[in-house]
Formats: sequence, structure tokens, C-alpha cells
Amino acid sequence: MDDAMDFLTPVDAAAPRVRNSYQAHVRWGARDVTVGGDAPVRVQSMTNTDTVDAIGTAIQVKELALAGSEMVRITVNTPEAAQAVPYIREQLDRMGIDVPLVGDFHYNGHRLLTEFPACAEALSKYRINPGNVGKGDKRDRQFGQMIEAAVRWNKAVRIGVNWGSLDQELLAGLMDENSRRAVPWDAKPVMYQALITSAVESARLAESMGLPPEQIILSCKVSGVQDLISVYRALSQRCRYALHLGLTEAGMGTKGTVASSAALAVLLQEGIGDTIRVSLTPQPGEARTQEVVVASEILQALGLRSFVPSVTACPGCGRTTSTTFQELTKQIDDFLRAQMPVWRKQYPGVEAMKVAVMGCIVNGPGESKHADIGISLPGTGEAPAAPVYIDGEKSVTLRGDNIAQEFQVIVENYIAKRFGAHVTA
Ligand code: SF4
Repeated sequence: MDDAMDFLTPVDAAAPRVRNSYQAHVRWGARDVTVGGDAPVRVQSMTNTDTVDAIGTAIQVKELALAGSEMVRITVNTPEAAQAVPYIREQLDRMGIDVPLVGDFHYNGHRLLTEFPACAEALSKYRINPGNVGKGDKRDRQFGQMIEAAVRWNKAVRIGVNWGSLDQELLAGLMDENSRRAVPWDAKPVMYQALITSAVESARLAESMGLPPEQIILSCKVSGVQDLISVYRALSQRCRYALHLGLTEAGMGTKGTVASSAALAVLLQEGIGDTIRVSLTPQPGEARTQEVVVASEILQALGLRSFVPSVTACPGCGRTTSTTFQELTKQIDDFLRAQMPVWRKQYPGVEAMKVAVMGCIVNGPGESKHADIGISLPGTGEAPAAPVYIDGEKSVTLRGDNIAQEFQVIVENYIAKRFGAHVTA
């Protein structure tokens, strides 16, 4: 019988992450977001506002931060955008939003970071794309100017390679080298090699220019799930820099969500990845914060982080008598999510709570008992009663037309009683 234990050992999501990466600090004021080492995997996001619209950008940054984004990247593409950055920072500080801002630079970052020191200072991290810093002999000089700014202002840097803007001179050189091999590799491994070489060699160059390895984070983004897994497995073997993960151009809606989840889950489960972003294309009318929700859910589903109480719900089936069950699930989920910006401070630990909303007696009571608080709604042919379970015990049975409202009140009271004791002055 003991032989069976190997198969029965649960995966320990809380086990220390195995990759011994450097730990970077991305700071603003008193806020210090650690990335890599033994720090939790961080959630990042990016605005889609015009940075020149400082108020609009500050509002979106605030929304992303309140949704759970621990760093927010903004485009810094023109002198006007660079001028707006300190003003955006000031607006955020006034609103009490201390989320670190990351500046996204392409082509002219060397000029913007040099000519607009207030921008360089207001940002907490610079994203540099080695494929877009300049060509030929300008490349190292312009890259060096950006690293100089990072050293001067003591900022972290993400060296972010993307296969859509890969350094073409480097790729051509590696292709030539490959053609001289006795048995040339396929084109794909050469492309992987170019992505990784671009990132790692740029990081080494930054180090040689005085940037400590602890201030460097790398990423090599591609848009194919299997490509991303292959590249990051290899990259994680090549260096100790903290790694930012993301499937670039993931797409829209279900496709983008599933593709990002599939790729990131495999890598995170292997201990690869220190920060993540889900690059969703928003559906018309969809909030930008959806990418933060998905990133958080990936980490929470893997048991790596807890952001918001989780709602376990059955899919419903022919035994489900009405839409009450779906409505209640949505209502509770929306309510918990909406309360989190306040509860995070008021009720520490509430994010790990589990709520169950179940459609009938088949799995309802059992699943409800596994949750901290659960409700089993009546299915077809059952008496119109909804037993509520608290900490595994049946507590009360709700009846009538106000089950949803009454259950929400029970959840609120439970949270206040269980997590409210930790309220700090
Ligand atoms: S718990 Fe009941 S309603 Fe929900 S899926 Fe199972 S059998 Fe169907």
C-alpha cells in the first residue's frame, strides 16, 4: 500500500520556488515591490490611454491598481508623453495610489530619459526593447544612455525582447552561423536562440555599464504557447535574472484568456516566472482591468497567490430549476470583487476565503462543507429551501424570494466576524 503514496502526494503550491533568481526592487515612495528571489509572483498590466492625456492615464492606472495590478506600464513615446509622466505620478500620489509606474520605451528612449529627467525620476522601472534601441554603432551608445539613466536614478530595468521586433542584425548573424553548421538547425530553434541571446547579452552589457544584476528583469515574449514555453525553459537555464512572463498579442476574450493561462500555467508550475502580464485585446466595451483579473485568477488557480475570495460554483444542469443559481453566483462574485479594494486593508486574510454556490442537493451540501461558507440551492423536485453551511456545519436554511440578499448579508457578517479582528488603527 505504501507504494501508492508517490501518486497520492499533493502538489505543494506554497513550496519555495526553485529558481534561484536575483531579486529586483521596483520602488515608489514607501512602496517596494520585490520581483524574483523568494518574492510572490507579481501581476503587471499596461494602460491603453494616450499618455499625453495625463488625467485619463492616471485614472486608468488607478483602476488597474485597484483591480490588483502591482506595477502599471505606460507608453512613453514622445516628448509630450515624457512631460506628462511626472504629472501622472503627481495625480496618482494625490489619490493615494502608490503603484510603481513602468515606462515603455522604443526607438527614442535614450533621448527621452536624458532630456526629461523629471520623467526618468517619476518612473520606477524602464522597459527597454533591445530590438528597438538603434542600429549599427548607434545601438550600444543609445542602449548605454538608457542604462546610464537607470543607474543615475537607481531604477530597475526590464530588458524586454519581443519576436515582433527582434534585433534583425543579430538574427541574420545567427542564421548565417547556422547555415555553416554541418547539419543546420531548423529555423525555429535559431529564432529562440536569437530571442534569448538578445536578452541575455543586453543584460550582460547593462551590467558592464554599472547596472547591478538585481536591477535587471528579462522577458522574451512570443505569441505561440509552445514557443513561449520552449523559450522560457531555455532562458531560465541561461541566467539568474528575474523573469517577466507573458504571451504577447494573446488576442481577445476566451482565446486570449485560455492561451495565456495555458502558457503561463505550465511555466509557473515549473517555478519559472517572477512577474506576469496577460496581454488581452479588450473586447468592445470591456474594461482594461480584465487583464488584471485574468492574471490574478491564473496565480490564484495555481495556488500561488490569493487576491480575492474564490467562488466555487457548479455548472448547473437539468436539475437546476431557475436562473436564481446563476444570478446568485454572479452577484456574490461581483460583490466580493468590488469590496476587495477596501477589504484588503480592513480584513487581512479575506482573500483566501472560499465561498460555494451550488445548484442542488447532489453536490451542494458536500461542496458547501468544503468551503468556508456555502449555499446549496434547491434543484428540481427538491423542497424550496437553501441550506447555508458555515465552516463545514449547517447554519441556517433560507427560504422565499430574498435568498440572494439574505445570503449576501450572511457572507458580510461572516467576513466581519472572522477577519475583522485584525483591523488596525
Ligand atoms: S450540483 Fe446539482 S445542479 Fe449543480 S451540476 Fe451537480 S447535479 Fe447539477
